[in-house]
Amino acid sequence: MGFFRDWRRRRVLKGGRIDDALWSKVASSLSFLRGLSAEDTKRLRNLVLLFLSEKEMHGARGLVLADEVRLSIAVQACLPILNLGLGVYDGWVGVVVYPGEFRVRKEEIDENGVVHAVDEGLAGEAWPGGPVILSWEDVGLAERGYNVVIHEFAHKIHMDGGGDADYPAARSGMDPVKWRETLEASYERFCAEVDSGRPTFIDPYAAEHPAEFFAVMSEAFFTESAVLARDWPGLYAQLALFYRQDPAERS
Ligand SMILES: [Zn+2]
Repeated sequence: MGFFRDWRRRRVLKGGRIDDALWSKVASSLSFLRGLSAEDTKRLRNLVLLFLSEKEMHGARGLVLADEVRLSIAVQACLPILNLGLGVYDGWVGVVVYPGEFRVRKEEIDENGVVHAVDEGLAGEAWPGGPVILSWEDVGLAERGYNVVIHEFAHKIHMDGGGDADYPAARSGMDPVKWRETLEASYERFCAEVDSGRPTFIDPYAAEHPAEFFAVMSEAFFTESAVLARDWPGLYAQLALFYRQDPAERS
């Protein structure tokens, strides 16, 4: 970390503060924060303060972002990097928040090589080196196991520091072969469950692509951790090493 940034961050932490009442209001709306220790909560608050000072958050389509909205998004973005540090989110600055689903026009090439223009409504999107885009309506739909903020920021975490289009690289101290094999085997198992037509506890969208599987499982890891630890113990253990957290322990 550069000297200037180090100095700037110390100033932000010394001079800035988050209103206690606002913090309590936002934290009480996010049930998965409940088991955090006082020490972890303090570190999360500091991380959120730095996140809010270093990232730019803009409302789109006339949406005015209330402090509560900014804080809620920042808290959910920072929980996954609580033990990884803000450096994971280096290289981009913007978070754009739409009032509801936003439409994206894309071109997709089918198996016959034909290019189709696709117009789809999205709840969130994360661009490599670019912004995170969120629909506030969908952020508000967060429930256990479903969290669009954690989903999009998990894509950002994936894009940081190595890995390929399918999965992020293992962190130092992890067994990279075990990490990769666990992800691949879990993805296969999940796709087979979806194909069998039985209802799955995890959002079937995770079967779309390995990268989506990682993002959706990250949502479950933080917001429905005990169930994930029970049903997918091997994957849970690897995600705990990757995120350097054990949320099931505190839930
Ligand atoms: Zn995704």
